[in-house]
Amino acid sequence: MTDLFAEAQALFEYTRAMRRDFHAHPELGFHEVRTAGVVAKELTSLGLEVSTGVGGTGVVALIEGSKPGPVVMVRADMDALPIVEETGAAYASLNPGVMHACGHDAHTAVLLTTARLLLAHKNELSGSVKLVFQPAEEGMGGAEKMIADGVLENPRVDTALALHVWNEMPVGWIGIASGPAMAGAEIFKIVVRGKGGHGAVPQLAVDPIYAAAQIVSSLQSIVSRNVSPLKTAVVSVCTIHGGETFNVIPPRVELTGTIRTFEPQVRTRVLERFEQVIRQVAGGLGCEVDIDVQRLTPATINDAAVAQKVLDSARRLLPHAEITAGNYITMGSEDFAFFMEKVPGCFFFIGSANAEKGLDAAHHHPRFDIDESCLPSAAALMTTAVMDHLSCGTSL
Ligand SMILES: [Zn+2]
Ligand SMILES: [Zn+2]
Repeated sequence: MTDLFAEAQALFEYTRAMRRDFHAHPELGFHEVRTAGVVAKELTSLGLEVSTGVGGTGVVALIEGSKPGPVVMVRADMDALPIVEETGAAYASLNPGVMHACGHDAHTAVLLTTARLLLAHKNELSGSVKLVFQPAEEGMGGAEKMIADGVLENPRVDTALALHVWNEMPVGWIGIASGPAMAGAEIFKIVVRGKGGHGAVPQLAVDPIYAAAQIVSSLQSIVSRNVSPLKTAVVSVCTIHGGETFNVIPPRVELTGTIRTFEPQVRTRVLERFEQVIRQVAGGLGCEVDIDVQRLTPATINDAAVAQKVLDSARRLLPHAEITAGNYITMGSEDFAFFMEKVPGCFFFIGSANAEKGLDAAHHHPRFDIDESCLPSAAALMTTAVMDHLSCGTSL
């Protein structure tokens, strides 16, 4: 009888030690040199052949099962964020100004543990598992770079799986969406150009601050007036910069922010209105505008069949877990979406918060930390999902 949860529990000390090591040594996107080195060393010690420098600092290894079959890719992201850590944890960042505030340290440790578990069951695998340790998930294009470097080929990947520890939900919870899981994101920059002048003589100036303020307000009409109340979208202006002193109307104001949507039709409509609203409001107030919108990630859309299989694996492996199936979605974005544009897959969430222990700060917060007791469930579920996809079945 295989009990993958017990096997993952037996590796808990290993998983935690790896996670804490990565946590103490965070590295920004495309600079995950030490992290990639540790990952490569660990995988090599397991007897795996390792490719490094994939898509920048990415690491890839293949576990070949005893019988032929499909290829399942499992991805972990390795990058940290430019945040000054305030957790006060014994394993807090030793790299000032850089912090694992999203949980990618846990993902990397969980995938190393998954590799160990899968290797112990190699003979039961009909097919192969591609272990993908990705750089630069945080809006820097790591997934695209790995794809450009051929990570989905040789051998060709049939199914892609990944997970995220999730502090919006308590430890013990699992979220497996069928269809949309995370939003698609664009980032934008708007430059509003007027005519500078004396703050006391506004009639001789063209005030870009006033125009920018009207633009910020008017942009909120897109979600409330142009998108169906039954659909989902976000338009957020997150920075606004203009002016140097109290009595000078500046010549320009710069705004940046983000747009989040799930459905292509909603996205098209929002982007269309975004441009119209800005141009017309600015034009009406005598200002000129430059608008630059860049796509950051597509929406993360789970394949219904793959998600159902992962759900079946979760229910069998963790019968007492609280599982939200079907419609758990978040407006955050995730560049795993780029892999799932190419191959069917599933991106699922593992609850990691524990309010009683004070481990419930939000992702990207300086006090973000997780309840590490979620780690064995994460590794066991990922391993079970892979094994179930490679149609060997795990009898518990
Ligand atoms: Zn993040
Ligand atoms: Zn993340």
